[in-house]
Amino acid sequence: METSDIKYVYFFGGGKADGNESMKNLLGGKGANLAEMAGHPNLKLPVPPGFTVTTEVCTYFYANGKKYPDILKKQIGDALSEMETLTGKKFGDLQNPLLVSVRSGARKSMPGMMETVLNVGLNDQTIKGVIAQSGDERFAYDAYRRLIMMYADVVMEKGGGLEVKHSKGIRKILDEKLEAIKHAHGYASDTDLTVEELKALVADYKKTVKKVLGIEFPEDPEEQLWGGMGAVFSSWMGKRAIEYRRIERIPEEWGTAVNVQAMVFGNLGNDSCTGVAFTRNPGTGENKFYGEFLVNAQGEDVVAGIRTPAPVNEYSKNAQSQQFESLEKLMPVQYKELFEYQSRLESHYHDMQDIEFTIERGKLYMLQCRVGKRNGVAAVRMATEMNKSGLIDGKEAIMRVNPNQLIELLLPMLDPTIEKISTIIAKGLPAGPGGAKGRVVFSSEDAVEWASKGEKVILVREETSPEDVDGMHKAQAILTTKGGMTSHAALVARGWGKCCIVGCGDLEINTEAKTFKTKNGTHIKEGDWISLNGTKGNVYEGSMPLVDIDIDKNEAYRDLMLLVDKYKTIGVRANAETPNDAIHAYKFGAEGIGLFRTEHMFYGEGSEQPLFLLRKMIVSTTEAERREALDELFVFVKKDVKETLEVMDGHPVTIRLLDPPLHEFVPHDREKLSQLGKELGIRMSVLHRRVLALHENNPMLGHRGVRLGVSFPEITEMQIKAIFEATAELLEEGKKPFPEIMIPVTCTVNELTNQKEIVDRVYEEVCQKHHMSKIPYLYGTMIEIPRAALMAETMATAADFFSFGTNDLTQMGFGFSRDDIGGFLPKYLDLKILPDDPFVTIDQEGIGELIKFGTERGRKTKPNLKVGICGEHGGDPESVKFCHRVGMNYVSCSPFRVPIARLAAAQAALEFPRGN
Ligand code: ADP
Ligand code: MG
Ligand code: MG
Repeated sequence: METSDIKYVYFFGGGKADGNESMKNLLGGKGANLAEMAGHPNLKLPVPPGFTVTTEVCTYFYANGKKYPDILKKQIGDALSEMETLTGKKFGDLQNPLLVSVRSGARKSMPGMMETVLNVGLNDQTIKGVIAQSGDERFAYDAYRRLIMMYADVVMEKGGGLEVKHSKGIRKILDEKLEAIKHAHGYASDTDLTVEELKALVADYKKTVKKVLGIEFPEDPEEQLWGGMGAVFSSWMGKRAIEYRRIERIPEEWGTAVNVQAMVFGNLGNDSCTGVAFTRNPGTGENKFYGEFLVNAQGEDVVAGIRTPAPVNEYSKNAQSQQFESLEKLMPVQYKELFEYQSRLESHYHDMQDIEFTIERGKLYMLQCRVGKRNGVAAVRMATEMNKSGLIDGKEAIMRVNPNQLIELLLPMLDPTIEKISTIIAKGLPAGPGGAKGRVVFSSEDAVEWASKGEKVILVREETSPEDVDGMHKAQAILTTKGGMTSHAALVARGWGKCCIVGCGDLEINTEAKTFKTKNGTHIKEGDWISLNGTKGNVYEGSMPLVDIDIDKNEAYRDLMLLVDKYKTIGVRANAETPNDAIHAYKFGAEGIGLFRTEHMFYGEGSEQPLFLLRKMIVSTTEAERREALDELFVFVKKDVKETLEVMDGHPVTIRLLDPPLHEFVPHDREKLSQLGKELGIRMSVLHRRVLALHENNPMLGHRGVRLGVSFPEITEMQIKAIFEATAELLEEGKKPFPEIMIPVTCTVNELTNQKEIVDRVYEEVCQKHHMSKIPYLYGTMIEIPRAALMAETMATAADFFSFGTNDLTQMGFGFSRDDIGGFLPKYLDLKILPDDPFVTIDQEGIGELIKFGTERGRKTKPNLKVGICGEHGGDPESVKFCHRVGMNYVSCSPFRVPIARLAAAQAALEFPRGN
């Protein structure tokens, strides 16, 4: 198509709109929703008129050396005229000038990441018209100083690619001039400045811009408008936008749209205000209208956390805003109208909306709406309550919660018994729930640097800005002294589900000294530990223990899981190391154990005796010696297996035979070795020789897994005996145990038949001993060597089930050593050589093919071959969905991720229904 035929500009206002909500790709989220609010018959809300320049222009802009399509100028001209007709004002007019905002708006909201310029169209001439029309000289100059500051920062400095010559940018320089005036006169607020002071400030701003940036602030409204648009497009490729996109996985190709909109003013006196609100509480999910506003202020003031905002209603009051009058009290008529709009918006969108509004001299305008960000706790509550009230159906409720967000419901909190006896050193607003502890840092850079050294940090700042995103991401938690529940820090933390406290006025930060002190006199310096309760907003000194949450008490979670179980088709099991893990897993809804490793008993608490016996077995040289040690070990293995089978009564438990190379279990330093020698009664030189013999150059590919069982059949025998004995005993006790014996690290069916002989023999023995005709069990293998996947058709002849061990399968499929990827993987991800860490998310196109192939071939031999996965991937939502698609019977993951996998499984079932 000729570019001259393309519609690049979409108008909205006056009860109609060219676009609508479904056009987010073209109009960006903000533009599409402005169109919807303005034009949809259900809504027709009072939106100041304006137009959206499409994302296609952004694409064009970058493809053509930052130039625009020729036709754009005309289309914009036409749209401006329409705005002029509707407002009765004229852009650049001296008597009654139209002022506009130039706003960015990508497909997905990127709060504060990109640029907005307000009051475009003001200059030394048009300001006279603004004064005449508003009758408020103070207001006119306040708007003007804001324009100069935003324009110099956004358009001239950042958009113009001007290097920041000073250590601080132009915005900061200009801001300090404002602060200096306030300081000199003892003003508490921006609104205290007199007309004369503002006039002088404007003149000073202009001089300073010229001096610092080397160019004049442009007086021409046309030039301001185009400059603003160019800056918005340029901000798409700004450092912080790129950073945010990387974290949020927003593709670069999307581009941003630009919205140009008639200005309305919340700073025209005490009957004017501006605010941000949510149709439900985004922190808790409670179905109550929640919001904040500032009287006599303009747009960005609320989000920037410049003044403490007031609550829109009684419900929105918090510790910081208690003393303020609510909007409901101050402007009851407008509040009622706003309340009606918000409920209309929620019913229309069927979801919680985040709303920006401004009241200009008593007249309410809606400036933005979008699906509001919410933390995991709120997401679950909203989804289930909306389902119960009939706003959305069960399927939609399931799709509403991001599986990874469930972590927040399960995440630990500060140990309440310790918390109760600890002194709160400061209190702020609870912006992000859960508990966190970390060492204090005062800058985003420090947070990044400390975190890269493995330190847990808490980022403490007066307020955060988009420049801090990286550090905020790396920190355990965020603590700010300013800002409200809708400030940047709160918004971003909420999006990530991070523990966060904002508006903590009890704190006074000394940035130079890197310390803070609190109202109660506590001094904290960089590197000191503090602990946060983000659910309550409490700050404590020191490192407090974290404890697990009792999830069963959460009604919304229970409701969600009921829905989940209704729709999911793939089973979810857990990887458990101990009977205790199994209890956890069961509580989280595991339908069995997909991987039970017996070797855990050789590590950590209570491991001394079994480990000693294992070592004794390992350094044995004769079978007789080995058998003796194994007989003793048997008791421990049987006990463990039995306990786990018992916890999972009625559900399958997959028990994997011993997997790691034996040398992992022998001590390597001399002292420990000689101690072992003494205990075993073996001379040091002999012991040393035996240990040396176990040494391998590449143990990951060495004498491990089934290879151990082939070399030392008695090791397999002992484990099989333990499994069958445990099962038989439980059967005798009237239980329903169901073990699945899993052979690790196989690459040929012959290994399976070799081990099966042992299984069959021991099975007979145990049946006889217990006078049983049958003990239920399955015999199967892990598929973790690529060859095993390729040989699946024959492997299945000797296996009842396959379990893909995707950690090793990824390691051997890629040829990436799991333990050594730190050296190169970050670079691979940076350069986009690989899209993701394949050890976190299954590499669907490569390793995934092995899984698909293996599953298909295996089932060719045995149509009802049971197939599962037991790698770390089993708890990764994307990977769960993949496993569902390839037709697995179950996934298995760590106990904590079981709810996440269940939700992902239900979503997969809805997204990819299994055909019959
Ligand atoms: P962001 O996407 O970062 O929220 P916005 O484009 O929404 O940026 O604009 C920043 C602030 O300016 C918001 O508070 C918004 O309500 C306000 N604003 C934008 N356009 C106008 C306008 N035409 N009149 C009044 N305020 C506006
Ligand atoms: Mg906004
Ligand atoms: Mg393995």
